[in-house]
Amino acid sequence: MRTSCDLIVVGAGFAGLTCAQAAAARGSRTVVIERKADVGAACHTTGLLVKEVADTWDVPRELTRRIHGVRLYGPSLKSIDLHSPGYFFLATDTPGLMRHLAEQATAAGARLKLSTGYKECRRTDDGFRVATSSIGEQSLACRYLIGADGARSRVAGDLRLGGNRRFLVGAEVELVGVRGLDADRLHVILDGRLAKGYIAWAVPGVGVTQVGLATSGPIAGRIDALLRRLADVFDLSAAKIVSRRGGLIPCGGPVRPWRTPGAMLLGDAAGMVSPLTAGGIHPAMQLGRVAGVAIANHLFDGGPEPWRAVSAIAPSFAYKRWLRAAYELLPTNYLIDRLITSAPLRRLAQVIFFHHRGLFSLAAWREIVLAAR
Ligand SMILES: Cc1cc2nc3c(=O)[nH]c(=O)nc-3n(C[C@H](O)[C@H](O)[C@H](O)COP(=O)(O)OP(=O)(O)OC[C@H]3O[C@@H](n4cnc5c(N)ncnc54)[C@H](O)[C@@H]3O)c2cc1C
Repeated sequence: MRTSCDLIVVGAGFAGLTCAQAAAARGSRTVVIERKADVGAACHTTGLLVKEVADTWDVPRELTRRIHGVRLYGPSLKSIDLHSPGYFFLATDTPGLMRHLAEQATAAGARLKLSTGYKECRRTDDGFRVATSSIGEQSLACRYLIGADGARSRVAGDLRLGGNRRFLVGAEVELVGVRGLDADRLHVILDGRLAKGYIAWAVPGVGVTQVGLATSGPIAGRIDALLRRLADVFDLSAAKIVSRRGGLIPCGGPVRPWRTPGAMLLGDAAGMVSPLTAGGIHPAMQLGRVAGVAIANHLFDGGPEPWRAVSAIAPSFAYKRWLRAAYELLPTNYLIDRLITSAPLRRLAQVIFFHHRGLFSLAAWREIVLAAR
């Protein structure tokens, strides 16, 4: 059986669901293909949202909790506290959040096909034909195609678009029963041996504590090592692991090319993840929404090619890629421990965590230089 629609979105993650919701709300007959049976199952993200997302998204309050500051630890677990008036992070019930996004997309009119794997696509005279694993409806035809199928995108390969080449590997456990953890702090651990090239963390989340790390080095055994280390700071004697998450984080910046006539990539598939902070939710949702609106405008109102609207606001992450390379050269654990309580490092960390424009801002650099004097 063959079905026709305006837009097919492959992948019901942050990028795909946001794009589908926006396009459907603007009148596109939209189908989302997702291989999982439940969009909230097997999440691979910590789901931490920066304030900029919280300020512009009417996310249900019960799916989030605010965290107002950061406790930054050196390898010996010596720490400093950082906060900025008015700034906060949102820890989230990520499975709940994904289900909420799916409900919004469905309410806008998008059709969500779960347990349906994308197999391949072929260009036709008026769009694409997409083959799926669905038994009842194996082939779908569309005018526009979105590949939002994550870091190892099959859609990208079939459309001969660029693929991600550089990754961090992340792993996380969710615990109940953690005691002695300051719940108003995001606990961030800098340790070049434990989490080479990135950080380890403990997030007081929604009903659970999320403990994880990401690294450019090997990951095997690292979570156990991290939990042994954290047992010196928090009381883990009654803690129990209730779930595990993990996955690849693209860190090489946007893939090239990320678009072709009638189709484009979004989210991790497009490499739209900050190479420095590994945050991908904000760009996935922001660009997903813009893409959805632009696709509908293009298909129904003769608007410009949708990629133009995305390209106008897509970050290049140029300076963050440079900083990522520098971060890989972080000094030894001995030096980090020495520097962690110094004024310039405190100021630098403050800017990275809280400054709206980060190291792009002249004011931020002035603060760092003044602190070094
Ligand atoms: C351990 C870890 C922690 C992270 N923590 C944070 C954080 O705290 N904050 C933050 O901003 N970012 C974080 N990130 C990054 C963030 O999770 C991603 O950037 C974000 O999830 C990207 O969303 P997406 O929609 O592009 O892709 P995904 O969330 O990967 O969604 C892709 C979807 O496509 C589906 N799919 C894939 N292949 C197929 C197929 N063949 N057929 C059908 N469906 C398919 C998948 O099942 C999935 O549902 C983290 C990443 C990891 C790995």
